[in-house]
Parts: sequence; C-alpha cells; structure tokens
Amino acid sequence: MLILKILLFAFPVIFFLIFLYLKSKINNAINSNENKEISKQIIECEKCGVFVDQDLLVKKNKKFYCSQNCSNP
Ligand SMILES: [Zn+2]
Repeated sequence: MLILKILLFAFPVIFFLIFLYLKSKINNAINSNENKEISKQIIECEKCGVFVDQDLLVKKNKKFYCSQNCSNP
C-alpha cells in the first residue's frame, strides 16, 4: 500500500513537471517566432517615406518603393 500512496503523490508532481516543460517549450517557440518577425527587414519608400515590409517592396533602379504607384515617376 505504501507504493500506491507514493504513486498517488508522485503522479501529480510528474504531470506538473511535464506541464512546466511543455510550457517552456511553447514559450521558446513563440519567442523565436517573434524574433523572426523583428529580424524581417523594413525599408523606407524612396518617394513617400512609408516603411514597408521587405516582402511588399517594389524594387526599381536600385531604389525601394512601397507600391507600383511610387515606383513610377
Ligand atoms: Zn511610397
């Protein structure tokens, strides 16, 4: 019966430790995602001065613009 009592006591502790472990894993994943977002380059439009995400930039004559509108003179 002593073993049963130890098990009854140990299970919640083990589950709690697993929970803490998973929680830190999830937090790390979220943090690394945030870091990726921050490291994404944001560049200023040559014409209107708007800051644009690198993915949305229009590149023309080695200069960067926020849209096709701005890239046309
Ligand atoms: Zn612009």
